Amino acid sequence: MLEDLGMEVQNLAAGGPPLLLGSLGRNPALPTLLFYGHYDVQPPEPLEAWSSPPFEPEVRDGRIFARGAGDNKGQFFCHLVAMEAFRSAAGGLPSVNVRVLLDGEEECGSPHLLESVRHSSDILAGVDVVVTADGPYHESGSPCVICGVRGLLYVELRCRGASRDLHSGHYGGIAPLPAWRLVQCLGSLLDGEGRVAYPGFLDSVREPGADERAALEAIPATEEEIARGLGLTSLPSGPGGGFLERVQFRPHANISGIRCGYAGEGPKTVIPCEAVAKLDIRLVPDQDPDAVFEALREHLRRSGFGDVEAVALQAVPASRTPVGHPVVRTITRAVERGWGGKPILVPSLGATLPEHVFTGELGIPSVLVPYANPDERNHAPDENLLLEAFRRGIRTSAAILAEMASYRRS
Ligand SMILES: [Zn+2]
Repeated sequence: MLEDLGMEVQNLAAGGPPLLLGSLGRNPALPTLLFYGHYDVQPPEPLEAWSSPPFEPEVRDGRIFARGAGDNKGQFFCHLVAMEAFRSAAGGLPSVNVRVLLDGEEECGSPHLLESVRHSSDILAGVDVVVTADGPYHESGSPCVICGVRGLLYVELRCRGASRDLHSGHYGGIAPLPAWRLVQCLGSLLDGEGRVAYPGFLDSVREPGADERAALEAIPATEEEIARGLGLTSLPSGPGGGFLERVQFRPHANISGIRCGYAGEGPKTVIPCEAVAKLDIRLVPDQDPDAVFEALREHLRRSGFGDVEAVALQAVPASRTPVGHPVVRTITRAVERGWGGKPILVPSLGATLPEHVFTGELGIPSVLVPYANPDERNHAPDENLLLEAFRRGIRTSAAILAEMASYRRS
């Protein structure tokens, strides 16, 4: 399809499945726009929960149902259809160089993206902005232009005792107790307000700028709807500001799971030989995942938890493009024109995407413009994309192509 659009196609993957780059236009005097997306998907299971087979797209009730319809092939397809529309209706694209980058490993954290892009930095030099259509638009129906993501440090804490599980009557009081050790260790990460704040964790957190605070204030409040949707009467308050400030500008550590001993029905008197906790820690600018992890190991050493081993399973830095960047204004104008509604400017997603590869490694501004309906059911059975959202996405991609033609790097 990329070749049919007249693109030159290269595989940039330094490892893993193909990372496809399509290039159209090489005029250094023109602005260059890169659309990033991914062709891999989450597993479709449980299959019996689907109303139609996940890999046989079906249109019903004004929606396309298929795994990948929203996340991310359907959204990415909008860019290609917009380019095709320009070719057939106007004989060619507006005066802009276009790159598309299709990742095959996004759903597992894009483990080869950084290395691949690093090897190809000369090929990607000159890109003015990266635009990613992924995720859902705002609940209110308004489009969003999102300028950043939080990072992720995924850590496993492991505490081992004896070489096997033990009878808690025979050994209680004399054998090591990994479960208690792990619980104490987890507790030692918290400050007086109950948030993770071990020494070194919060040191480099960047405070929101004045323009970011203004953007936060302009975002319509959805706190009550979210609480209702979660079956809660309200969302817990906490240190670090209001709801949006906490989810966009403050780091957060969650215990994803604890594995240890016997947790089935009824009693079993056993001293488990091992206890493991999985922590997913969301990071913000300018926290360096490696430094945060080192600080955690240092804390364990200093606090007498030398018997708790910390292993980092994933480390992705946060990313931020200034909300006042001129190219953000250009994209915002394009979205308003293509979508037919004023976009909400969002400083950051709470979630994590490999944006740092563009903003950090290559120094290219990067924004997310989600095209999918909020009930797209991404990662779940009956994933779908509203046909109306699909068509609006195509118009939005076309407007981005058109507006970028007039962008001038300052
Ligand atoms: Zn996904």
